[in-house]
Amino acid sequence: MKTVPNIEEFAASNNPVVRKFSDYLDAHGMRKTTERYAILNRIMDINGHFTIEELQQMIDGDGFRVSRSTVYNTIELLIEAKMLRRHVFEGMQAQYERITLPHTHLVCTTCGKLKEVRDTNFAAFMNARRFNAFNTDHYSLYVYGTCSTCARKLKRARQASNDDSAKKRK
Ligand SMILES: [Zn+2]
Ligand SMILES: [Zn+2]
Repeated sequence: MKTVPNIEEFAASNNPVVRKFSDYLDAHGMRKTTERYAILNRIMDINGHFTIEELQQMIDGDGFRVSRSTVYNTIELLIEAKMLRRHVFEGMQAQYERITLPHTHLVCTTCGKLKEVRDTNFAAFMNARRFNAFNTDHYSLYVYGTCSTCARKLKRARQASNDDSAKKRK
């Protein structure tokens, strides 16, 4: 069984991510509750994207009792503190990820699989891009299409139906 992290120790640690969250809570006069740090602790262990349901399951698995509304509110705080980002891909429920290096999201519209790529050409273009009367803070690029697995399946399905109609014609 996984050992339950000591949240008091975690909250008092010198980790820059933990400190950033503590500073944000202090600056906004918010209480530094064990629940909020338990949620942050969990999120810091996740690589990549997660949904609220997935996060809740992990926290439950750690043995913490944290209500859904607390999970939701803490996520909102982390977004406001610029530590977490929300993505809403077409036709999918909201996903969250810690703010890391900019990357492009390739979304398969058939199976919903998500691929993250670092596109240095696009990043260079966006870093140089200036908009009139607007200061860019960050940007997100979602590319919708078909993943190679789905493309193969579609091709096979098409071939099968072609074979079928060829047989019928005979
Ligand atoms: Zn796919
Ligand atoms: Zn991502």
